[in-house]
Amino acid sequence: MLKLSNVQTFYGKIQALRDVSMEISEGEIVTLIGANGAGKTTTLMSISGIVPSRSGEIVFEGQSIQAMSPHKIVDLGICQVPEGRRIFPYLTVSENLDMGAFLRTDKDAIGEDMEYIFELFPILSQRRQQAGGTLSGGEQQMLAISRALMARPRLLLMDEPSLGLAPLIVRQIFEIIRKINAENNTTIFLVEQNANLALKVASRGYVMENGRITLSDSSKNLLSNEEVKKAYLGL
Ligand code: ATP
Repeated sequence: MLKLSNVQTFYGKIQALRDVSMEISEGEIVTLIGANGAGKTTTLMSISGIVPSRSGEIVFEGQSIQAMSPHKIVDLGICQVPEGRRIFPYLTVSENLDMGAFLRTDKDAIGEDMEYIFELFPILSQRRQQAGGTLSGGEQQMLAISRALMARPRLLLMDEPSLGLAPLIVRQIFEIIRKINAENNTTIFLVEQNANLALKVASRGYVMENGRITLSDSSKNLLSNEEVKKAYLGL
């Protein structure tokens, strides 16, 4: 579904991604783990077109996307849930969800999707008319995921959904990730510092260090890999 080949991305003179190559097949949950500053967010930003890569190739369903504008990429079916949640704080929950559906032309189906989201996250249903900025951290993460789902993505890019959330909420979010993948066949590319949880929900994973992919394997093998255990699982 998605293939990155030798992608190099820069911030001015700073090179953040070095020869990054990876593949994601339809229906998978794949994770990218790594330390702070490894280049995980930049990988997502390069895929979604927000920080375009300088060289290499990014192909989505047979089409090269690396020179495309972010909104065209959303239109093709790739949507990103940004780190730090970034919802619209002064808009209500319902209005935030409407924003997620902004580019859609099938307006009739939008209401149905909103109802599906309220089933997924009943707490958001209770808070429909509440301003996004007044929600708790966990609820804002749920809203950020929901807003992305309103675009009906086929590939969902998630940037550290567990960041700053209490363990119980993190478990709920990961259950929802599993559900979104299973119920809608939404392919998920999950960037996480919580490697333990990420490798439990994903079937495969990549490890990134200093802008390079240093390991790629099944989650099962990565969970038992001695280097991964020491560096990322705290074992
Ligand atoms: P984190 O877990 O802290 O979000 P990350 O693995 O997502 O880390 P990136 O945010 O992709 O890492 O950063 C990769 C590198 O690019 C780092 O060296 C970072 O300092 C640098 N970088 C990121 N954003 C910018 C920017 N806007 N301008 C300059 N350098 C940047």
